[in-house]
Amino acid sequence: MHGPGDVRVEQRDDPKILHPTDAVIRLAATCVCGSDLWPYRGIEPVRRPSPMGHEYAGIVEETGRDVRSVKPGDFVVGSFMASDGTCEICQAGYQSRCAHVEPVGANGAQAEYLRVPLADGTVVATRGQPDAALIPSLLAASDVLGTGWFGAVAADVRPGKTVAVVGDGAVGLLAVLAARELGAGRIIAMSRHQARQKLALEFGATDIVTERGDDGVARIREMTGGYGAHCVIEAVGTQESMMQAIRSARPGGHVGYVGVAHGVELPGQELFFAEVHLLGGPAPVRRFLPDLISRIEDRSIDPGKVFDLTLPLDQAADGYRAMDERRAIKTLLQP
Ligand SMILES: [Zn+2]
Repeated sequence: MHGPGDVRVEQRDDPKILHPTDAVIRLAATCVCGSDLWPYRGIEPVRRPSPMGHEYAGIVEETGRDVRSVKPGDFVVGSFMASDGTCEICQAGYQSRCAHVEPVGANGAQAEYLRVPLADGTVVATRGQPDAALIPSLLAASDVLGTGWFGAVAADVRPGKTVAVVGDGAVGLLAVLAARELGAGRIIAMSRHQARQKLALEFGATDIVTERGDDGVARIREMTGGYGAHCVIEAVGTQESMMQAIRSARPGGHVGYVGVAHGVELPGQELFFAEVHLLGGPAPVRRFLPDLISRIEDRSIDPGKVFDLTLPLDQAADGYRAMDERRAIKTLLQP
């Protein structure tokens, strides 16, 4: 990305093993993230031309001498945050905030090859070479599914609970799927876009609310006997969506927030009296990967349905544009 709205596909040097814990991966597929739209729209500054992309699945090409868990030829899926897997934070399940964390996206996953640091603590191998049909779903596990799943876990989704999901992008839609898999009784998707509502229903939403802001909150309260939802997942990252999420939760309820916050400021007194649990942040995708990969291999979930546009890598700019204009939910890029 050279600047807002300016995405170019250029030849860069092939990545090499720089540290003994690195792996180089030949990508089977990559994609454009909703968070890539923040700099694309100029909301995050683009100070210099930057390699883009942090979602990846593919075949290990080469490993550093200390890598033990994967070998060349393995098909792997990895988290967008590289983690050592050994520090106290990783051991507690918060790998995205590892004491030695490195953002994989700095190396640019929208490419043919990618260097993944700290491979042992970051990537997970599939059982064997996956069917081509499973690749979009495995790719989704790398971020959007893992992030939606974390949103649901952070919101304490459990069997029988009523869950509200704020945001109908890929993460919000996959949070619906996660809530269903975790046994939620009722799943209310907040969306005003028909194609996204349809996918939300396919993923397990039981109700759709089209109102947003205070009207959306009023609707959730009305549907829950005046109490609010037990669990709310926030998957946007704006002031409005965050307040909508907090206000939609009942006292004692849980809000899992996974939309990257931009300009969000929480009013202390309202927060005090809301009496809700808040947990969010960059999803520790690595915690969930083994489970998510096996659900995909067993064909019990199909998160790859969020990709409604597939383009060759050299048309990446069109993929960004389609998502920016909301013509596509999520673009898969084929290297
Ligand atoms: Zn760690």
